[in-house]
Amino acid sequence: MAEDKLQRAIETLKKSGVRITPQRHAVIEYLLTSKSHPTADEIYKALEPKFPSMSVATVYNNLRILKELGLIRELTYGDDSSRFDSNITDHYHIICEDCGKIVDFHYPTLDEIESLAEKVSGFNISHHRMELYGKCEDCSEVAVTS
Ligand SMILES: [Zn+2]
Ligand SMILES: [Zn+2]
Repeated sequence: MAEDKLQRAIETLKKSGVRITPQRHAVIEYLLTSKSHPTADEIYKALEPKFPSMSVATVYNNLRILKELGLIRELTYGDDSSRFDSNITDHYHIICEDCGKIVDFHYPTLDEIESLAEKVSGFNISHHRMELYGKCEDCSEVAVTS
């Protein structure tokens, strides 16, 4: 399935006239196979052994292109540690308060909240974002055994 997504992503890039460099290919592949919503820095560190001459700027540049083409989503958290998500279907996130892990959570989109918000505020609502916080399984286990 990840292979399929990778093929489709590469097709999209080709159609948009974006050159597929080995680094670019690696960045897309890493994002599509990773479920961890990595930061640009994490992607850079993961790919560095394979591409020692690649810079963080290259990673950022690739992420920007992928984002502009709608292949990935950027999740911002009010600091500079944006995370990147290759799952572009509507979903919510559960975030571990201890280790920062982000897990996808699928639930029917709460569209009513948007129409209600429009009605009461007069805003033209474009989207909404909901995050759930807690302790992941790994972090809960540590707490129990120590
Ligand atoms: Zn955790
Ligand atoms: Zn996600």
